[in-house]
Amino acid sequence: CGIVGYAGTAPAIGTSGTGSHQALDVLMEGLRRLEYRGYDSAGVAVVADGGIAMRKKAGKLANLTAELEANPLPSSMTGIGHTRWATHGGPTDKNAHPHVVDGGQLAVIHNGIIENYAPLKAELLKQGYSFISDTDTEVAAVLLGSIYRKLTTTAGAALGAKDAQSALTRAMQLAAQRLEGAFTILATHAEQPGVVVAARRNSPLVVGLGDGENFLGSDVSGFIDYTRRAVELGQDQVVTITAGTVDITDFHGQPAEGKEYLVDWDA
Ligand code: GLU
Repeated sequence: CGIVGYAGTAPAIGTSGTGSHQALDVLMEGLRRLEYRGYDSAGVAVVADGGIAMRKKAGKLANLTAELEANPLPSSMTGIGHTRWATHGGPTDKNAHPHVVDGGQLAVIHNGIIENYAPLKAELLKQGYSFISDTDTEVAAVLLGSIYRKLTTTAGAALGAKDAQSALTRAMQLAAQRLEGAFTILATHAEQPGVVVAARRNSPLVVGLGDGENFLGSDVSGFIDYTRRAVELGQDQVVTITAGTVDITDFHGQPAEGKEYLVDWDA
């Protein structure tokens, strides 16, 4: 129901600088701001130490906070956070987002409903993929992971990915083409720390422009404590953020533009 994404800058090696914010601080603050939308579970994932570190809990944000105190996350400048309003699968820890797939390397969160999750799930099961939750979201996550894996092998190069970074963006474009319904989907992959990719169709997504850091939110409250410069995405767009870049395309990889504006309400 609420979505936050963050890509910041690590401190330069050998300096006493702190870099940008800790991803976890930005994500938790954003999720708190988005609580007004209502939710039944919450979770966060960050990219650290060559992998994904994830915590999620059914219930209020306080449950997630307690879990994070008991099992702290490593320092990270890249991550995604989610509050869930269950539509497919009950409000349990297991069904909460993020869903981590691709051998623990890819974390995915989603707002909305994937209408064609059943045929996609059947197709992926036939290909040997397995599922651990009851959600439509996990189907989108596994689909994205399967496309990413194809793209990062030589055979998949023909699909148009040039390197690891563009592979996640290209995979998101190709996955989004196959998804029906309403979705804002965010993904981050351990093979490309510093990158968060998102797609939207019939569901809102806003980019927050920072200085040496960029943000994603289901609405501007997800990042209003950090920046008021926002870019509203159009329908059927994919956006890739790093600490210093924001790239927008359509689902076919053609460059696209969002609408930049200044948020002028008092938070
Ligand atoms: N349909 C997804 C689920 O039930 C996402 C719900 C939401 O928008 O929070 O897990």
